[in-house]
Amino acid sequence: MATITGVSTHMNDWQIVVSRFDEVAKLISLAEPMKKSLLLPFREVTVEVPVRMDDGRLESFLGYRVQHNGARGPMKGGIRYHEKADLEEVRALAALMTLKTALVDIPFGGAKGGVQVDPNRLSQAELERLTRRFISRVSLMLGPYRDVPAPDVGTNPGIMAWVMDEYGRKYGYTPAVVTGKPISLGGSLGRIEATGRGVVHCLKLAARDAGIPLEGARVVVQGFGNVGFHAAAFCAQAGMRVVAAADVGGAIHDERGLDLEALSRHVRATGHVTGFAGAEQLRGDDIFRIPCEFLIPAALSSVISTPAHAREVQCRMIVEGANAPLTPQADEIFRERGIVVVPDILANAGGVIVSYFEWTQNLQQYRWELEAVNAALEKQLNKAYGEVFAFAQERNVTLRTAAYALAVQRVADAEMQRGTF
Ligand code: NAD
Repeated sequence: MATITGVSTHMNDWQIVVSRFDEVAKLISLAEPMKKSLLLPFREVTVEVPVRMDDGRLESFLGYRVQHNGARGPMKGGIRYHEKADLEEVRALAALMTLKTALVDIPFGGAKGGVQVDPNRLSQAELERLTRRFISRVSLMLGPYRDVPAPDVGTNPGIMAWVMDEYGRKYGYTPAVVTGKPISLGGSLGRIEATGRGVVHCLKLAARDAGIPLEGARVVVQGFGNVGFHAAAFCAQAGMRVVAAADVGGAIHDERGLDLEALSRHVRATGHVTGFAGAEQLRGDDIFRIPCEFLIPAALSSVISTPAHAREVQCRMIVEGANAPLTPQADEIFRERGIVVVPDILANAGGVIVSYFEWTQNLQQYRWELEAVNAALEKQLNKAYGEVFAFAQERNVTLRTAAYALAVQRVADAEMQRGTF
């Protein structure tokens, strides 16, 4: 894997969530039974997903859906198709969704799904059969007021259309059962670029508070999929210079700034950023050593994991487009070095915020204009960022600790108000 993980720290995604949870539970004096109850998932399901391949063979895949917490509303979270997806990863991502929805104050809980598959080796027809089989096996857990999936790594609006259609075969027309759909099937304007837009909106707010000028600032982006591409495009739109980009195939670098439109055409044609004319070709790992003002990891988790590698990073701010790209060990080094980290549950929350708008539009059967979507997204992020920044200042903690503490407190309050039996 083209990452900077280096020597393994042996902490998987779930253990990282647990360790961050422990830290903030102490900070907000959360009682031990409540901490345990908030941390453990509400429900976890593993399903076998048999798929008839185009050549007639039957292949079996493993699928997961973890519903982490629903105290604040229906559970919400994407579906990931990746060959390394497993239950612990999906559980960790589900827990992050609980915190994210609470932090940006939308009426959802947290969930996540995954299928252990490399989607690039499946034909479109196989992908459709896989999606329908997976959904048919978890559909009894889903519903507009129960659990609402969305796209994540390896999935896209077309796959969300099959999710809606498969669910609808059993339960009738239910667009609000999934978000991130194509516009023609009830998707929201602005959803496809919402996560990248949110990443850059948070970057601008944090840069203002850290006194880093945007004009001409150098940006490095790891991951050139939905989040990475749109984040890069919004950075360029704001006058920044995207000097390097990486994906699973390797990295490219051009100090003058990459021509993102040409790069996007190149990626559509070849599948990868590598081979882009005029840019220096690098190994994926090298991307983190390129000097820049803003580093945006927008691929997978734990891509900067060891203290040694965290010390090599040469940026002033990290804005987490991906979920959990840094380990607690890396966080500690960035804190020591005064590098601001805008945490995942805030920085990449734009996607779930616009998913919330999509869900409300579906329930009301009423369409919003793009301007209304974007304005409401920014308003929601401004509020969340302001609260996180104020908490961090007041308690002298990092933005991550502040964000996690605020989120855990909100979920705990909801649990307490509901009562137990
Ligand atoms: P995507 O599948 O569209 O793109 C993933 C990108 O990462 C691809 O360019 C891929 O080549 C690259 N990549 C994969 N492995 C890599 C590696 N080892 N090194 C370098 N690059 C690698 O996925 P996405 O939807 O853009 O999601 C990216 C991240 O953002 C994930 O962590 C996801 O959970 C998070 N996220 C996504 C959304 C959303 O709305 N899509 C919302 C919030 C968070």
